[in-house]
This record gives sequence, structure tokens and C-alpha cells, in this order.
Amino acid sequence: MGKPTGFLEFPRVERSYQKIELRRRSWKELLQPLPAAELQRQAARCMDCGIPFCHDGCPVNNIIPQWNDLVYRDDWRRALTVLHSTNNFPEFTGRICPAPCEAACTLNIDDNPVTIKTIECAIVDRGWEEGWIAPVLPPKRTDKRVAVVGSGPAGLACAQQLARAGHSVTLFEKSDRIGGLLRYGIPGFKLEKRLIDRRAEQMKEEGVVFRTGIEIGKTVSLAAVLGEFDALVMAGGAEWSRDLPVPGRELDGIHFAMDYLPQQNKREAGDSEEKAAPQGSITAKGKHVVVIGGGDTGSDCIGTAVRQGALSITQLEILSKPPEKEDKPLVWPYWPLKLRTSSSQEEGCEREWSILTKRALGENGRVSALECARLDWAPGKEGRLEMREIPGSEFLLKADLVLLAMGFVGPVRAGMVEESGVALDLRGNVRADTADYKTSVAKIFAAGDMRRGQSLVVWAIREGRQCARAVDETLMGESDLPR
Ligand SMILES: Cc1cc2nc3c(=O)[nH]c(=O)nc-3n(C[C@H](O)[C@H](O)[C@H](O)COP(=O)(O)OP(=O)(O)OC[C@H]3O[C@@H](n4cnc5c(N)ncnc54)[C@H](O)[C@@H]3O)c2cc1C
Ligand code: SF4
Repeated sequence: MGKPTGFLEFPRVERSYQKIELRRRSWKELLQPLPAAELQRQAARCMDCGIPFCHDGCPVNNIIPQWNDLVYRDDWRRALTVLHSTNNFPEFTGRICPAPCEAACTLNIDDNPVTIKTIECAIVDRGWEEGWIAPVLPPKRTDKRVAVVGSGPAGLACAQQLARAGHSVTLFEKSDRIGGLLRYGIPGFKLEKRLIDRRAEQMKEEGVVFRTGIEIGKTVSLAAVLGEFDALVMAGGAEWSRDLPVPGRELDGIHFAMDYLPQQNKREAGDSEEKAAPQGSITAKGKHVVVIGGGDTGSDCIGTAVRQGALSITQLEILSKPPEKEDKPLVWPYWPLKLRTSSSQEEGCEREWSILTKRALGENGRVSALECARLDWAPGKEGRLEMREIPGSEFLLKADLVLLAMGFVGPVRAGMVEESGVALDLRGNVRADTADYKTSVAKIFAAGDMRRGQSLVVWAIREGRQCARAVDETLMGESDLPR
């Protein structure tokens, strides 16, 4: 521990966001880094607890107290080495991870956790600035060839680890650019895409071959790829969006969030409107927008609609409003259910909870309003919460654009999954356990959202890393890669 009394002396200071008026007009990243001296004070707040709950709270098990201590001592380079030993891409998690580590921090017992995520981000950003991050070449090359399908955080982490173990790795991606949801989904104001390109350059120099615009199971058959490689990792994500089966769903102007968000990502990347939106532009400009779904995806739709110039934005959530504050002794160190407000929600939207969308109304084939009803959530016969429509609570909500952000059902079946014949689990994800990541089909492994269902970037990185070790062990009989 750097400073035993740090947590008593220094209050928690967090990165701030730019002013809302500026944010509403900018597609650039919103977070303002802290100065180095402040970061050292923040790192000094870490108590290096006997049982560091933050380790367990962090899905990649980042060795947080160690890098806090090193930052406090101004040894940023070693802090970076420790950080990279568990996390391939701290510049992603340092920006967009919800930070379950901070929920688990002992100092969170009185709501003042160490600013772990901010420090993580600062360590890796400094590493890039100083030129400390270079390709990591394997001591020797093997004669094994591995195909990784999907270039989201799971596929990227898996490919990087396998290349560092000396294997020849080819990463196949159906989109025109790599990154998965980091690239096409998460908006640039949360994560600038240059960060993905920079990592991709490092990975190329480490030997990873990127092949974009190839959909395995469609452009190229899975059988053909399997024939050429010693192992194949399915890291294709959980791209099947949950639909809203209500009357009027077919009206124009009702879209899945994932038909809307990537268009804006592509515009920001400099693509022409024709290339960004080949099926037709979806924009919130001058529209009354309703976002259905209260999670991350919904928030990203709100932030995007704000910047596009929506007239109004309403976000509907079917579940009841969570409590402002968690019952700490009951839930700490676990991730608490409580009311959270994202930077996008702050920028301007009405939020409504316990709302059922009953049907969409339209004029000339285009959506013009939603008919909704209010719900009461109460324990049913078996004690589980059940929803009940409140009689007479129906209301109409003006809507020119409706964005469906109600989560994802699981991996898309058509194409690679169907062709492979891999067994699925009860939730419809590709079945594989987290000990060996093997699917039911020889030579095929699975990781990330494709295996665990819709999740988080940090979980995808963990699975990619662990799956790489499992592949390496299977191919070589042993592995030095960390789990
Ligand atoms: C809008 C949105 C916002 C989010 N925001 C956050 C956030 O702020 N923080 C957070 O932690 N998590 C967030 N998430 C969740 C997070 O992005 C995912 O959990 C994570 O990206 C999953 O990683 P993955 O590598 O398993 O899959 P993905 O990132 O989905 O990548 C899968 C890739 O596989 C490709 N692919 C699929 N099938 C094939 C095929 N047959 N051939 C070739 N390529 C194929 C896809 O094109 C895609 O590029 C968000 C999700 C969404 C949708
Ligand atoms: S990856 Fe997420 S959980 Fe882990 S230390 Fe970083 S912010 Fe915390």
C-alpha cells in the first residue's frame, strides 16, 4: 500500500464530463482525464485490503492494489506491465466498463470507492503516449493455424493471446472494419474508434492476419475454414435483437437499435451516406424519438439521437424504477441494482418506468404514436414479481422514430452456427464451458457473447483470453498462457 492514510486524507475525485451544451454537439469522447498528480492521490486511497474484493469484482481479475501502489509511487511503466498481465485492452475497459470492481471496493461501503477505472485508463493512455506499448513477439513459432471468427473484444483478445503463444492466427470478420460492437454499436463519444485501430496495428505486427468482409457460413463455408485450420474459435457475439411483437410493428420508423447505431458509427468514420445506410437512412433529426429499453443500448440510442437533433426523446422501461440507493450491507461487494443515470440520459430525455407498449399507431404507413399502459409490479402466488396492467392507465405517446433496445436473444443461428451443428445451451447460446471452451464439435471452441449471451466488454476479454489458453493447451498439450 502506497500511503496507509491515503483514504483518510484524500476525497474521491472522478473524471468529469464536458459541459452538456458542448456534449450535445460533439461526437468526440466526453471524459476529461485527471492530471497525473491527482491520479497519484487517488491511487493512494487504495487500502490494499487483506482480501481485495475488487479482484473478484473485476471479471479479468485485474491486480488493482498493485497498480494503484505503483501509480502512487510514480512507477507508471511497471503499473502498465501489471495491468497488461490480466487485460489485453485496458483502454476499452478504462472507458466503457461499468466498473463492478468499484462496487466491490471496500471504500464503497461508504460510497467512496477508489477511482479504479479512471486509474486503469490513465495507466494505459500514458503507456501509449510514452511509446511503452509495442508488439509482443512470441519466443518461438508453432506450426499450428487457428481461425478466430468475430473481431469483437472476445475475438480480439483470443487472437492476440494465441499469436503471442506462437500460433498463426487469422481473424475473420463479416463487417468491413474490425472491432465488433466496440466499432459498430458503441458510439464514438463513449469510445473513439482510433483506439481500436491502434490495437489492431499492434496485433498485425504480432502476426494476426485480419480478413474483413468475410462471413463464415455464408461468404465462405465453415467446412472450408475448418479444413485449413487446426482449431476454430467462434466469437460471433449475440446479435439476434429482441423484437416487440405488437400490432403496428411493421410500420416504417420502427427500427432495432442495431440497425440505427452502426449507421452513425459509419458516418463518423467518413463513409458516404450510401455506404453507411444502404437500406435507407435512419436519423432522429427533427423527430420525436421513443427508445424502448432502459439499458446501455438504449442509452447509446439517446446520446446519438440528441446529437442528431431529435425534437424530444422518451425512454420506456418495462421494469419498475429501481431504488436510488442500494441496501449496502445486503449487497456489497456485489453489483447492486440501483438507479443509474448515464451521460446520454443526462443530455436530455424523459425516462418512464413500468410501461408496457401495447401497439404502434401510424399514418400513411409511418409510425406516429405508441399506445402504452402503466404497470404495477407485485409478488404473485409463488412470490415472484408479476406485472399487472393498471386499468385505465393507457396513454398515447407521440413517436416519429421508435428504437427497439430491449436486449438480445442470443447468437444468430443462420449461417455459421447452423452449419457447424454445435449444440446450444438452454438459453440458445453456443454450449461450451469455461474450463475448456470446447463446443460439441471437434476443433471448434466458443467465447464471448456467443457463448455466454449478451454481456460486457470486460467479460468478452476474459473469455477470449481463457479460450486462447484452452486452444493452446489442446493444440500443444500444455500452455504458458495465463487463464
Ligand atoms: C449498443 C451497445 C452498447 C454497449 N455498451 C457497452 C458498454 O458501454 N460497456 C460494456 O462493457 N459493454 C457494452 N455492450 C456489450 C458489449 O459490447 C458486448 O458484450 C461485447 O462487445 C461482446 O463481445 P464479443 O466479442 O463476444 O462480440 P461482439 O462485440 O458482438 O463481436 C462479434 C463480431 O463477430 C462478427 N461475426 C458474427 N458472426 C460472424 C460470422 N459468421 N463470420 C464473421 N464474423 C462474424 C460480428 O460482425 C461482430 O463483429 C454494449 C452492447 C451494445 C449492443
Ligand atoms: S476492467 Fe472493469 S471491473 Fe476490471 S478494473 Fe477495469 S473498470 Fe474495474
